[in-house]
Amino acid sequence: MTMQNPVTVEMSPMRSQDEFSDWYLDIVEKAGLADKRYPIKGMNVWTGYGWKAMRLIDTFFREEFDGTGHDEVCFPLLIPQNEFQKEADHIKGFGAEVYWVTHAGENKLDIPLLLRPTSETAMYPIFSLWIRSHADLPLKTYQIVNVFRYETKQTRAFIRMREIHFFEAHTCHRDFEDAEKQIKEDLDIMARLAKRLCLPYVLCKRPEWDKFAGAFYTIGIDSMMPTGRTLQMGSIHQYRENFSKPYGITYENESGEHVHVHQTTYGMSERILGALISIHNDEKGIILPPDIAPIQIVIIPIISKTEPEKVTAACEELTVTLKTAGYRVHYDNRDLRPGNKFFDWELKGVPLRIELGARDLQNGIVTLARRDTGERIQLAKGRLLEGIKEAVSGIQTSLYSKASDTLRSSIQPATVLTETKPGINVMHWCGNEECGHRIEEATDMAVLGEPVGVGPTDGKCIVCGKETGKTIYAAKTY
Ligand code: ZN
Repeated sequence: MTMQNPVTVEMSPMRSQDEFSDWYLDIVEKAGLADKRYPIKGMNVWTGYGWKAMRLIDTFFREEFDGTGHDEVCFPLLIPQNEFQKEADHIKGFGAEVYWVTHAGENKLDIPLLLRPTSETAMYPIFSLWIRSHADLPLKTYQIVNVFRYETKQTRAFIRMREIHFFEAHTCHRDFEDAEKQIKEDLDIMARLAKRLCLPYVLCKRPEWDKFAGAFYTIGIDSMMPTGRTLQMGSIHQYRENFSKPYGITYENESGEHVHVHQTTYGMSERILGALISIHNDEKGIILPPDIAPIQIVIIPIISKTEPEKVTAACEELTVTLKTAGYRVHYDNRDLRPGNKFFDWELKGVPLRIELGARDLQNGIVTLARRDTGERIQLAKGRLLEGIKEAVSGIQTSLYSKASDTLRSSIQPATVLTETKPGINVMHWCGNEECGHRIEEATDMAVLGEPVGVGPTDGKCIVCGKETGKTIYAAKTY
């Protein structure tokens, strides 16, 4: 579900940029999601815990794209300079961010190679060989790989990295209309993914000056961070024939003519994980949606002097039962006080905790604690699986709706450039690029673009006062 209509709900209090930034750096480290001590700036180590969460997110990507007829492929990391340089806008957009390989052993390479910043220029020379006739279309592919971008801004785990865990779908179609259908399918995929990831978003058609290098148009997928800034989690691009012409990707149509294909791409990255951490948390730590939590349930024995062996045995049995039922379960039998264990797992965002002690065993119950609300639920042993299922779906729904409310309340109308608010400002814009740049200069915000799926409303351009039906979203961004 996308949030498109401005409503007048009071916006929840926002965190200052500095406070949030410090908190974020600290929590990524304490929750054990990434290790930033690797000796190259902007290149972190994925730890076991962080990588498991990312792999679960990747699983949803695979399910969605396999399920809609895409084939997973894997192209080489290195791209020859001459292939990279075929599409002029693309080079302009990425040129300054490229890492080059100039030597192999002791030999200087005749043609330098670059580390993919994205894979158009790796894939498209090969697509031109794969596609021969209309029967080869549509060609729908995706890959999950790492890409490299020499970021000059301050790097931040998951959000702004130089080595990025990246998802990219690339498709080829017989004409513009078929490519447009693909974009509709992409938007449906995003809506389903967002539900599982508990990440509501807005869709904006980016202004001309901010579209992807080489694209005909770009739709940005933005989420709302607790600072009132938006974070782009992904983007969908219509290329039309902008790449198929320089790369010679043609097919023979039914009348025997050779025609250029129309192309689309869909990109998402580890930023999804950055957004999740930023949006779902409290003073105790992060709160992971059950669908992506590496550990969904942690079991903590409450050991007392009476019959500790019985409690241990019951916890082990419970672990097996829940694993068999399909949950990712961890039995924490460390020699620590339960309170210390609670603290650790709350910090790491485990959505459900089960406490089990001698008295619970006598009474035939277990105690379930929800990470998001702190609610403690006593369940009779016979109702255990049912109760857990309810709690899991309850957390999933409540995280999503809470984040949706925050996003919705952050979308507010603005009619005067000097009176913008934190969050997303909805403004009328005449469509003139100069007025667009003026908005950005005067507000220190980015024009996210025209919200997708929102009809025209009458108003006056916030800059020049001209009558217009066009509105745009503007916000500070990451
Ligand atoms: Zn104007």
